[in-house]
Amino acid sequence: MIKTIDEFAVEGQRVLVRADLNVPVAGGRVADDGRIRASLPTLTALKARGARIIVCAHLGRPGGKPDPRYSLAPVAARLGELLGHPVELTADTTGPAARAAVAALPPGGLVMLENLRFNTAETSKDDEQRGAFADQLAALADLYVSDGFGAVHRKHASVYDVALRLPHAAGYLVHAEVDALSRLTADIKRPYVVVLGGAKVADKFGAFGSLLGAADRILVGGAMAFPFLVGQGNEVGTSLLEASQVDAAAEYLKRAAPGQIELPSDVIVADEPGGLGTVVPADAIPADHMGLDIGPQTTKRFATALAEARTVFWNGPMGMFELAPYAEGTRAVAQAMTEGTAFTVVGGGDTGAAIRALGLTEEAFGYVSTGGGASLEFIQGKTLPGLAALERS
Ligand code: ADP
Ligand code: MG
Repeated sequence: MIKTIDEFAVEGQRVLVRADLNVPVAGGRVADDGRIRASLPTLTALKARGARIIVCAHLGRPGGKPDPRYSLAPVAARLGELLGHPVELTADTTGPAARAAVAALPPGGLVMLENLRFNTAETSKDDEQRGAFADQLAALADLYVSDGFGAVHRKHASVYDVALRLPHAAGYLVHAEVDALSRLTADIKRPYVVVLGGAKVADKFGAFGSLLGAADRILVGGAMAFPFLVGQGNEVGTSLLEASQVDAAAEYLKRAAPGQIELPSDVIVADEPGGLGTVVPADAIPADHMGLDIGPQTTKRFATALAEARTVFWNGPMGMFELAPYAEGTRAVAQAMTEGTAFTVVGGGDTGAAIRALGLTEEAFGYVSTGGGASLEFIQGKTLPGLAALERS
């Protein structure tokens, strides 16, 4: 059993909270604060109970060394606005600046450590190297709280190793995520429809193998569709194509039951992102055009499948929704989910951001997960290192 923060006396204790604050930043400001808001319940509860709170998180992929472009400063600023008082960001992650800031923390106080990934050891594959960094993190605190659900599928120092070194608990967000996602791993109400899209194709492609065994239908959109279309012998012009996945896509199509994998039958193409969108059949994408959204016929088919579903999992936008001409597929699919009666879980940083950007309320969905890769791995029944570490006493 994973303990929650309610089971610990935290007053006056130094509590290291691993949060997932990996949000989009544009022009030095947080563009979507969904993940920051999701971390508030745990932080405010710990504050109210007089803990000395040390928040740690990562932002982007700075490559293991300090890089001002990936500073958590905009995130600390936004968290400060949401909490109603400024949040101090330490100049280093576990160095003298961090140690001094932690030593000065009053009960109920909060500091944020600079980007965990400014340190190569955080994501290292070498247990000893990671362990040494985890030792430094652990030395800052008396209790470790895991609340960064979006990172629990990573065997990283701040997610896994530090939990082995300190008394540990799950924060409210991790708890809520596990509760909601567990409904997609056992006693699933059918039909169970999975919608996959987005651009991180290689990262997510492995999921098809186990989802074919679990889902009644898998609707594929976004750049995820292109390896399948190519695997069927089509050409996809200048579309964002993960060519390394074409063979796997062909294999999944062979393995799937008839109709189990549904691909776009039409697509919106343009000569470049921002260009005028035209609808073409999915097997007739012009050589000098790229697919940027699913077409209206596909959208209709997907909406029908969603209306019949009783359980839905959605990861990955159907198109480049950030640009208005290619947002319709994502919007319509999202709307079909909110109109249906299924229990609907949405996962993925950009997918959650899409819902909010398109003006849909999160409450219209059964659950909006803050995790992309993590939720996808969870519903496949995989062991997530960050959760496994919490199980250990
Ligand atoms: P998530 O964060 O929800 O897991 P991803 O990171 O995999 O999703 O993908 C999100 C991105 O995918 C969005 O920025 C969107 O613009 C992009 N995208 C979706 N469809 C396409 C497409 N056809 N071509 C290029 N980019 C796409
Ligand atoms: Mg993403």
